Amino acid sequence: MASPHPAPPETADVLVLGAGIAGLSAAASLRSAGMRVVVLEARHRIGGRLHTVPIGVSTPTNPGAPYAVDMGGAWVHGIGGANAPNHLYALASQLGLGCCVTDYTDSVIYAAQGRLTDGAVADIEQLYHGFEQHLHSLLHAPDPRLALMPIQAAMEAYSRERRLTPAQHSNLAFAVSNHMEHYWAGEARFMGVAALEEDVLPGGDVVLAAGYGGIVRQLAAGLDVRMRHEVLAVQYDAPPGAGAGGVTVTARIAAPAAEGVGPAAEGGGGGAVRQFRARAVVVTLPLGVLRSGAVAFSPPLELADPRKAAAIGRLGVAVYNKTTRGFYHSACARADHSPPKGES
Ligand SMILES: Cc1cc2nc3c(=O)[nH]c(=O)nc-3n(C[C@H](O)[C@H](O)[C@H](O)COP(=O)(O)OP(=O)(O)OC[C@H]3O[C@@H](n4cnc5c(N)ncnc54)[C@H](O)[C@@H]3O)c2cc1C
Repeated sequence: MASPHPAPPETADVLVLGAGIAGLSAAASLRSAGMRVVVLEARHRIGGRLHTVPIGVSTPTNPGAPYAVDMGGAWVHGIGGANAPNHLYALASQLGLGCCVTDYTDSVIYAAQGRLTDGAVADIEQLYHGFEQHLHSLLHAPDPRLALMPIQAAMEAYSRERRLTPAQHSNLAFAVSNHMEHYWAGEARFMGVAALEEDVLPGGDVVLAAGYGGIVRQLAAGLDVRMRHEVLAVQYDAPPGAGAGGVTVTARIAAPAAEGVGPAAEGGGGGAVRQFRARAVVVTLPLGVLRSGAVAFSPPLELADPRKAAAIGRLGVAVYNKTTRGFYHSACARADHSPPKGES
């Protein structure tokens, strides 16, 4: 039964929904601009899809353990250059976080018959490179429908036109999976050629040797983050952008032991409900949550921002599985935080 005297809403200048890297970055920027910010996060931890955990126990034969393992994002893609800085990489460098340069084309590949030679790997990369060029030509073709063609269909057609042998076709399918399905976390049959239209920062990729955790902690330092606060509703006094009024956010607070997102995390939807008021709200909830309708927006997003609502409806989400393997010897050629050769 509802309390006869519900607690008055807590107030802030801005509410940030979600304590992943987007929410934490937004909150840190707003706070440094002098705003009073409260971050509402459903889980019992910050970081969202960035989650670094220690794995292994230190023993005389394995003194380096525990090792920091990123269960979610691990790579900083495109460390940038003098005219196109990558702010994440800059922050990692500033914090002295060691980085390890990686190169997708420098792979060790095992087939059923054993490890492929460097020459065989180079052949696969060359085949893939040719196909990638072909996709770019489709992307910029006069007929705009070609950009919407699924990558899988484009690959089948390319394979037929170039009369690829069955072995070449299977190598190309492997490379498409390795480069594209892995990178975009989607299946080639569902992704359009237009997926290639993205801005990629220069400078190659690195992984953070101690994981993304250091960056997450740094962004969150000093922020007012309310963990276990699952947002249920966002209600504007007036349509967003109308320039008047504020916003009320309703959140359900899970018991301390509960973990995860959604009613199941609190044992079937229990937990106290609290309201927050602010002049504005920054929504960084994942696409899957927005698509599910688990958070009620008033006015509905379809009325407040039809273009954004339509994009949320069109964009797909996928499950991205990750496995971690341990090696006795480091496969990491460089472990410093200086830019790789050739970059300024
Ligand atoms: C396995 C894996 C590997 C990846 N690898 C890379 C990589 O190598 N490089 C790279 O650049 N990217 C990678 N990514 C993608 C990258 O991790 C994400 O793009 C990024 O972390 C998303 O950040 P975000 O803040 O937008 O969202 P999220 O991190 O999802 O943050 C959203 C937050 O909202 C919270 N939330 C959800 N619902 C509610 C609610 N109702 N109320 C309150 N809070 C709620 C969530 O708990 C979460 O903390 C990877 C992702 C995965 C899953």
